[in-house]
Amino acid sequence: MASETEGVMNQCARWSSAVSSEFKRVPPGRSGAMRMSTRVPGFLLSAVACFAAAVTTAQVPSPESLAHAEVLRAEALAGSNAMAIVTSLTTEVGPRLAGSEAEARARMWALNTLDEKGFSNVRNEPFEINAWERREESAEIVVPYPQPLAVTALGGSVATDANGLSAEVALFETLEDLKREPEGSLLGRIVYVGHAMQRTQDGSSYGYFNEARTAGPSIAASKGAAGYLIRSVGTDSHRFPHTGALRYMEGVPRIPALALSNPDADQLERIAAAGKSISVHIKVDSAEIPAAESGNVLAEVLGRETPDEIVVIGAHLDSWDLGTGAIDDGAGVGITMAALELIKDAGLAPRRTIRLVLWGAEEVGLLGASAYRERHEAEITQHVMGSESDFGGGRVWKVTADSQTEAGDQLFAEIARLLAPLGIAPGSNRQPGGGPDLYPLIAAGVPTLRLHQDGRDYFDLHHTADDTVDKLDAASLDQNVAAFAVFAWLVADSDVSFRAPEI
Ligand code: ZN
Ligand code: ZN
Repeated sequence: MASETEGVMNQCARWSSAVSSEFKRVPPGRSGAMRMSTRVPGFLLSAVACFAAAVTTAQVPSPESLAHAEVLRAEALAGSNAMAIVTSLTTEVGPRLAGSEAEARARMWALNTLDEKGFSNVRNEPFEINAWERREESAEIVVPYPQPLAVTALGGSVATDANGLSAEVALFETLEDLKREPEGSLLGRIVYVGHAMQRTQDGSSYGYFNEARTAGPSIAASKGAAGYLIRSVGTDSHRFPHTGALRYMEGVPRIPALALSNPDADQLERIAAAGKSISVHIKVDSAEIPAAESGNVLAEVLGRETPDEIVVIGAHLDSWDLGTGAIDDGAGVGITMAALELIKDAGLAPRRTIRLVLWGAEEVGLLGASAYRERHEAEITQHVMGSESDFGGGRVWKVTADSQTEAGDQLFAEIARLLAPLGIAPGSNRQPGGGPDLYPLIAAGVPTLRLHQDGRDYFDLHHTADDTVDKLDAASLDQNVAAFAVFAWLVADSDVSFRAPEI
């Protein structure tokens, strides 16, 4: 498809040949010069206008803007504050479960840190949630080979009664197998679903495999099950079970649900493969805390020309309670905060505002993302673009965006050109999706850009007690910071709209 610039330049070429032939008709000397200055032909005015239009289009972004982006990229690679930020968060706050006192301390940490760094409009936007609290959990094989199992309750799981629950296990290799089971066939049983997640670079299989965690408990309960076990939605082979939110369906009994570590799931499957029937005892104590407080923390670098137009970058501030939430999502907090800090410390004010959002209560159902959308409804159309970092600390290898305009396509190409030296290849520019907390904004038509990270080891650690800061690599975080700083700067310093014009 011919670009807008090409179209304008072709038009210019036609006009400029008309101009030169007109000049040829003007005799040299004073009278000719006078004639040109007093009676400027219409086609020449058109030519000037067209030249200006071509220059404007061709210079998005401007040479100055591109030069700033290159400096930001170099500065990030020379060493950003990302590692220091995530180390501070995970050390001084630690785990920060949505709606807990620890998540409140994380918001205080964020407000203090952002204030110290000198950002504009640093603020907390509180909202209310029904929080969940883990208290106690255990499981053991009772028959045929008594032994303890490494388990963790899924987020949101109801408690068993104080004595726990003992029952025979019904094993299913996949969630599909469980779905095909007739209603009422699993009365009183504890269901186990294997559904082993596979390692991928982009983590794309998570959406498929985590259905065993999110929807599985209610599917099992709808067939009569009294308890639910899954193989952890994770790719490691350590005795660290992976937690994560479940979603009970309306009108189906709520049953306790736990995840086994991968080696413990292997153990159960090995015993079953030998033809033995298995009974386990599970115990969960947990609590629901209604009307708990969560919040989103915001900070900005204000735009110099159109401050009402907003480029959103960010990460989620809450984490699961087992580890210290370094890869999920302390890394994202460090990357995006450090990127904004680089831009601010360079003394650069982009045309538009860059807003950092540290969302609360992501893990328990994107509650901060919904609260943000609701609170900022009036300015949603002013959101130029959004991107969240929520896939650990691995290096970025691909960039995609959801551009809905030709000008957006051109700016995307420029962004990709500046990201290429970081080892980042351009992917589709017609692909929405810039992180989970952007879903409500995407639904409202906000264009997104995604910096895809290498996540081959992300699900080794994700939602486990092993998610700690020693797993992160500073140079890899800096590469992410470079990418975020380049993209956020270039989009914010332009007047390009990525949104399809309203018809
Ligand atoms: Zn996350
Ligand atoms: Zn998570």
